[in-house]
Amino acid sequence: MPVLLPYPFPGPFDYAVPPTLTLAPGDIVLVPLNRRQEVGVVWDAPSGPAVADAKLKPVSARLDAPPMPAPLRRLVEWIASYTLSPPGAVLAMALRVNALTPPPMAAGWRRVADAPDVRVADAPDIRVADAPDIRVADAPDVRVPHAPAIRLTPQRTRVLATLGDRIIPSADLARLADVGTSVIRGMADKGLIEPAPVPSVPPFGRPDPAFRTPHFSSAQAEIAAALRAKVAAHTFTVTLLDGVTGSGKTEIYLEAVAACLQSGRQTLILLPEIALSAQFLARFERRFGVAPALWHSDLGSRTRRATWRAVAEGAAQVVVGARSALFLPFPDLGLVIVDEEHETAFKQEDGVVYHARDMAVVRARFSDAPAILVSATPSLETLSNVEAGRYAHLRLQTRHAGASMPAIAAIDMRDAPPPRGKFLSPVLVAAIRASFARGEQAMLFLNRRGYAPLTLCRACGHRLACPNCTAWLVEHRARRELSCHHCGHTAPAPTICPVCAAEGTLAPIGPGVERITEEAAELFPDIRRLVMASDTMPGPHAAAEAARAIEAREVDLLIGTQIVAKGWHFPHLTLVGVVDADLGLAGGDLRAAERTVQLLHQVAGRAGRAEAPGEVKLQTFSPEHPVMQALVSGDLAAFYEAEKAARRPGHWPPYGRLAALIVSAEQAEAADRCARALGLAAPAAPGVEVLGPTPAPLAILRGRHRRRLLLKTRRDIAVQPILLAWLARVEVPRGARVDVDVDPVSFL
Ligand code: ADP
Ligand code: ZN
Repeated sequence: MPVLLPYPFPGPFDYAVPPTLTLAPGDIVLVPLNRRQEVGVVWDAPSGPAVADAKLKPVSARLDAPPMPAPLRRLVEWIASYTLSPPGAVLAMALRVNALTPPPMAAGWRRVADAPDVRVADAPDIRVADAPDIRVADAPDVRVPHAPAIRLTPQRTRVLATLGDRIIPSADLARLADVGTSVIRGMADKGLIEPAPVPSVPPFGRPDPAFRTPHFSSAQAEIAAALRAKVAAHTFTVTLLDGVTGSGKTEIYLEAVAACLQSGRQTLILLPEIALSAQFLARFERRFGVAPALWHSDLGSRTRRATWRAVAEGAAQVVVGARSALFLPFPDLGLVIVDEEHETAFKQEDGVVYHARDMAVVRARFSDAPAILVSATPSLETLSNVEAGRYAHLRLQTRHAGASMPAIAAIDMRDAPPPRGKFLSPVLVAAIRASFARGEQAMLFLNRRGYAPLTLCRACGHRLACPNCTAWLVEHRARRELSCHHCGHTAPAPTICPVCAAEGTLAPIGPGVERITEEAAELFPDIRRLVMASDTMPGPHAAAEAARAIEAREVDLLIGTQIVAKGWHFPHLTLVGVVDADLGLAGGDLRAAERTVQLLHQVAGRAGRAEAPGEVKLQTFSPEHPVMQALVSGDLAAFYEAEKAARRPGHWPPYGRLAALIVSAEQAEAADRCARALGLAAPAAPGVEVLGPTPAPLAILRGRHRRRLLLKTRRDIAVQPILLAWLARVEVPRGARVDVDVDPVSFL
């Protein structure tokens, strides 16, 4: 019987089935491999020439876990062949081994009632490792009744502080408190903590489709009915739901969810950024009475197991998740929704390189379910599928309840420059001031974390670069660090130039959100500011709290990176200032203009979502650029037409197909040799073109030298067979590696 293991082997392995077991495809089993027991999935495909049963090792056991549904097995195979990845590598994403066993009634620990009261700044959710210093140096010996004097070491203090009033699973306590398990055992022996059962994960409620039904406008109602019909049809279809920000798209696709709930099937909703989920979850709950199940990579292990099980058993009827939710074992998926379908965050760039939007469509196909792609600024890929008649198109033309679209204006930075060393034009500053005067909120958007993207020595001109990458180090002033946003390298910010040793000559060049925040603090000392960036706001909880504070008008000025751009609905926010509208155009890759329009349109959409009209100011050095023109005029249709016209003749996506080969090696020489060999063996055929090899823009990443080749074919030519044949002609030298990226989004 073929069993697929979650490792990059070329295919399933054959095992004998002992007479005591009956196995069917999808069953999750334990099998011996190299003297270890591994978890695998019984696969359907015949795995090559049959081996005499006597030679096969037997399957050890079948696990007590719901089998992997056939549509998910098909998805694993499909992604493997589309991305040229070993099927086991894809299976690994679908087989959360730690999720297979049901969450046990876990044992946990709590403080004994009279344990010394140690708290971490009254914030039990903060991981102690990151929390302000707890002074324990002079911690006195504490007398606990029934016990001799117990010394409160720093580790023990951390454990007590981490516990607070909670019960924490034994499996997690040591990690959360950052101590060894022996510390925990020692504390139990000394009577500082005691075992206690962990309360079980809250059950997954049943969303009620009739909990609070909205009153739709006639245009909205028509689209909602069309989507309900798609769900009822119980067949695979793809629909683009397209409409300006604030037109009610979310409200409407929740009707499709309602229809799916009524049909008793499950729904998967993919969001590009799980930080977005906070407001979404609240909205879902208002509509259906309970929150949906949530799936993302930061879930705690208990919740992860419970959720995985609840999905497999059908108890979780609606799952909202990041791209990895695609691999959950839905037994009866009836609807797949991809919100903000144009987002590049749906592309996974590490490991198996896949586009979650496209794979969501495939998943829907294998489940005979409709897929709904939602966006105010659809990707050209999706629009071309609409044009070709493959996808249906439903459109909403106006904002709900008469809210008007924001007025977008460009600020020509050459005419109205900021003061020296500053980044906000007086025109923008005046507009912000005016909105505060009206008692409204404003937002500054800059898609760059940290204080400054580059540090330069004014004496010798040296620029501080990452030792591992072709990239400048970004200053994070609050943390007094320089950090590489590509490899994560960090170092304390130096005070003297590492090259010329001059003192006090290192100068920050250009702004990040931290620097804009500093400038705003000088300009508007009395207003309440909030910074939202992925590094200052990790996880959905922090984002939820931020959203609450903004809605409650506890904040006047919001400053953020792209995390503020998406999906939020802030009724009192009326002014959006884009600090550097040209930023995304600099890279100049295939989709730079498209992406800039999408991102800035999205940011602009945060303004004026309720009664008060919104206003958007774009700081730019090239107001004549077609992207700025499109945003200012609001004529996105014309922009899209121009963009299509530019891509069509050269067969650029979506009118052609791309696949990138990324060669990397620790030695530049090996990378070059491999890249040259690939170049010499490049396929040649009508409609097939190879560009490169060239050094990658990120010529060194994590210490590896990188070269790129790009395969471009006509749309009617599949890239996979060409790639397979090409790679088979080339021997990759030792130490070099070739990564394949089908449908590349990043060209770095
Ligand atoms: P989009 O997803 O297109 O940006 P939303 O669905 O977020 O739009 O709608 C924008 C706002 O208008 C939300 O606060 C939403 O609750 C509200 N809204 C939209 N349609 C209706 C409706 N028919 N009845 C009540 N509120 C609505
Ligand atoms: Zn780096």
